[in-house]
Amino acid sequence: MIIDCHGHYTTAPKALQDYRDAQIAALKDPAQPPYDGRIDISDDQIRESLEGAQLKLQRERGTDVTIFSPRASAMAHHVGDARTSLNWSRRCNDLIHRVCTLYPDNFVGVCQLPQSPGVPPGNSIEELERCVNEFGFIGCNLNPDPSGGHWTAPPLIDKYWYPIYEKMVELDVPAMVHVSSSCNPVFHATGAHYINADTTAFMQFIQGDLFKDFPTLRFIIPHGGGAVPFHWGRYRGLAQDMKRPILEEHVLKNVFFDTCVYHLPGIELLLKVIPVDNILFGSEMVGAVRGIDPRTGQYYDDTKRYVDALPLTDADRYKLFEGNARRVYPRIAKKLKATSK
Ligand SMILES: [Zn+2]
Repeated sequence: MIIDCHGHYTTAPKALQDYRDAQIAALKDPAQPPYDGRIDISDDQIRESLEGAQLKLQRERGTDVTIFSPRASAMAHHVGDARTSLNWSRRCNDLIHRVCTLYPDNFVGVCQLPQSPGVPPGNSIEELERCVNEFGFIGCNLNPDPSGGHWTAPPLIDKYWYPIYEKMVELDVPAMVHVSSSCNPVFHATGAHYINADTTAFMQFIQGDLFKDFPTLRFIIPHGGGAVPFHWGRYRGLAQDMKRPILEEHVLKNVFFDTCVYHLPGIELLLKVIPVDNILFGSEMVGAVRGIDPRTGQYYDDTKRYVDALPLTDADRYKLFEGNARRVYPRIAKKLKATSK
């Protein structure tokens, strides 16, 4: 089986964005109560939004299941306040649940958290519990920078974040460290802010004792781990100079990378540098980079093609495509057992 650990509902029906637009418009007039209108989306509209996109690509590329969450760039936790974020997150998560219910063989849910700048992360516990316990979601996306590019929250190793970690451990769900859009023009969202955040999160994990306090807490750092694999010697050396444990005995027990690197040499480097036990197959397809590489004639985000080109053993191939995802997202077993897969 091939599990794609990184997919977002980037093709959701327009009514979802209409809701968001109305919500944002209402924020402009403080006299108005927070907008929380209905979203009318039929099952057929959901089918239509996926059949020509993620489902078509799953079939064409030969992947089986996508771990699926709301569109990351649209989380925009910096918009409005905690109430805005909660209403928006609930709508987005409800829609993911409908997708997973319509296509239980193809999608397993991961939730957006109703984070908001300056609001303690424990505020997101209720929505995480709702999604895991009521919908059967298997993880969450955690935004290390709800301010959208201004980095006003404490680092991920700070006790500020502990309440949400306690809940993640209790529910046995991992988080993908995933920022959203950037409201700081310095940072292009997917070209700079995302990769910065991936790199930043990894360095933060080196700096603290988070995994001593939470030995079973698990994070996926997407986009191939940002700049980390390319600069692995730097991180190993920094850990050494800072008298931190070596990476293999510390951060790598709890932190995993995906394969959302959109060229073969990048995937080759990833596999050469990072232990295969720490790499999960992911494509983030229909995401940040949707074009075709003129050099290869293939989609940049067809990451399976790159992995297939590597001389992996059957055992390593299994880990990368399925085994590691089952280990990092243990709740997926129940979901897959419930379907024909
Ligand atoms: Zn993503």
